[in-house]
Amino acid sequence: MLSKVLKKETCADCKFCCSFRRQSLWETPLFPVDIVEKLRKKDYNGGKDKNELFVIEKDKKGSYGRMKLDNQYKTNNPDEEVPCSFLDLKKGCMLSDEDKPFDCKIWPLRIMEKDNQWVIALTPTCPAINKVDIETMKALVDNELGQIIYDYAKNNHFIVKKYKEGFPILKTYDL
Ligand code: SF4
Repeated sequence: MLSKVLKKETCADCKFCCSFRRQSLWETPLFPVDIVEKLRKKDYNGGKDKNELFVIEKDKKGSYGRMKLDNQYKTNNPDEEVPCSFLDLKKGCMLSDEDKPFDCKIWPLRIMEKDNQWVIALTPTCPAINKVDIETMKALVDNELGQIIYDYAKNNHFIVKKYKEGFPILKTYDL
């Protein structure tokens, strides 16, 4: 979705957003329950118990799947990173476009809740997006992506995260 500003090859080489330190676990992509059930039937993650791939969580508007990564760390080092269960370190993401979480399709954009509004914000740690002019990102959100993200969030409330300070806001929606 962000191919106008991020080259596929740049993301494929980087994979920054596909590995997680403990403090970044809140950023792991979330999956609709029907996709969780579908992925549990496939052979991902070296034959790991498929029920172990996800935990099902609930918010006030329904259930969703979160990858179970918190038990994968091998050290106490806060900088240790654990790769997403669907990351092939050589080939990149193993998921089809259909199964890939919306969170990943729009990263480094985020939809977040702040002061009873939804905002579309930019993840400031993405190494590539920092090279793109903020006005270009605002225009992309205004003209194309904002409405797509807002509409998806309306039907999949779980992707709306609590706002974090330091994430530049590109667009605001009154609720
Ligand atoms: S699902 Fe794919 S794109 Fe998303 S974090 Fe995992 S490997 Fe990366």
